[in-house]
Amino acid sequence: MAQDVHCPTCGAPLHIRNRFVTTVTCEFCGSVSLVDGARLDPTGRSVTAVQVPSPLYLDATGRIGNRSFRVLGRLVYEYDGGFWTEWFLEVDGNRRVWMVEDEGAFSLLQIQPRVVPPPFDDITVGQTIQLGDLSVFVNEVDEATIVGAEGQLGAGRLPGEAIRYVDGTAGDNEISIEYGEKEVEVFVGRPIPRESVQIDDETY
Ligand SMILES: [Zn+2]
Repeated sequence: MAQDVHCPTCGAPLHIRNRFVTTVTCEFCGSVSLVDGARLDPTGRSVTAVQVPSPLYLDATGRIGNRSFRVLGRLVYEYDGGFWTEWFLEVDGNRRVWMVEDEGAFSLLQIQPRVVPPPFDDITVGQTIQLGDLSVFVNEVDEATIVGAEGQLGAGRLPGEAIRYVDGTAGDNEISIEYGEKEVEVFVGRPIPRESVQIDDETY
């Protein structure tokens, strides 16, 4: 399901790419809107593009292994150690996935909607916590701010939002829990080698 709508702030035409998209950033005025069926609700927030060097870019297409992808949008997070980027990808035309890029390393993350994590304040580094079937060793507990956004996103988080997060490992899996202002999201992912990400028209 793709649909054409207009930015509620500046009236620019926007093309919503698929049914997973919940948030759209207008490429003309930077205002952020929530997708509510056929309507766009302005959030009153706006963003400027944050340039973090990357081989990926909005609308880039390519392959991850034998699957094709298109970049629908991204969020840029700032924390004490710098920045990381979460790319929202459409895969094989109908699936969605988040790909985290952190200092040139990529991981593919799947959101786990039914997993309920412990409260943030109960978690400390070095602890092992239970998340569904996974025993997760906690190696990072910190805060970050979403300082940039671009394109279309399927996330419960908005630009400007402060989040708290927990990163850990469970066997070969990377676990990330993001405690946003409204929602808590649990992701389970795997690191992927840079060479398995093939980008059409790579410009970087
Ligand atoms: Zn606009």
